[in-house]
Amino acid sequence: MSPEERERYSRHLALEEIGPAGQERLLAARVLMVGVGALGSPAAMYLAAAGVGTIGLADHDRVRLSNLQRQVVHRTATVGALKVEAAAETLRALNPGVQVETLAAAVDEGNAMELLARFDLVVDGTDSFSARYLLSDASYLLGKPLVHGSIFRFEGQVTVFLPGQGCYRCLYPQPPPPDMLGDSDQVGVFAALPGVIGTIQAAETLKLITAEGEPLVNRVLLHDAMAMTFRELRYRRNPSCPLCGDHPTIRRLVDYVAFTGATVAS
Ligand SMILES: [Zn+2]
Repeated sequence: MSPEERERYSRHLALEEIGPAGQERLLAARVLMVGVGALGSPAAMYLAAAGVGTIGLADHDRVRLSNLQRQVVHRTATVGALKVEAAAETLRALNPGVQVETLAAAVDEGNAMELLARFDLVVDGTDSFSARYLLSDASYLLGKPLVHGSIFRFEGQVTVFLPGQGCYRCLYPQPPPPDMLGDSDQVGVFAALPGVIGTIQAAETLKLITAEGEPLVNRVLLHDAMAMTFRELRYRRNPSCPLCGDHPTIRRLVDYVAFTGATVAS
């Protein structure tokens, strides 16, 4: 580490649990942030601040004025810009020492395996069920840890999937009916909620990289911002899970839009 890095990361170096060895692991780490919106904003900013050496950003969208109420990585001046480019600018300004790699495209079954394979760990900051199943399947098939987070109105949840210790399908065998949830455009999201959930995703990511603490594995942390409560729900790997069970039937990526949309017909 250079003298400048020693100063920048001095509060990490002062922590016995991280120290120079942990900081070196962070500097060498490659983390993929899928979705650079509400959850991706705080998550990516803390990863950059913490010195995660390479941060991949994947998002097909552009910054809209209505994003700024909660997507704090973006700026009024970057409305209209690609989210990955706008976010990369913020992250580089925050910490020029980190490498930011951008993909201005939707992550789908066509590109997910190749993309995820280039990173050590995946953070899910997406807002669709098709993307959540896709990332969970792809992470499991590649043997990568996945830090899952999601938000809805005033509530959010976070969990960590380690390959072999349960997956998103173990937790949610079937997607919800699409008409049950709607998108955030109509539903609304409380501004500070993704700050809480995305920051927990960043904390779990830093713990996984440094191999310190108890990861949020086999536990879903449920947060209600209105009641200001945190509850924990335990789950286990489902032996009959089609992905990570004892007799898996999913051995490659499937059509996730069809899978999550199929419940409309049923
Ligand atoms: Zn599973």
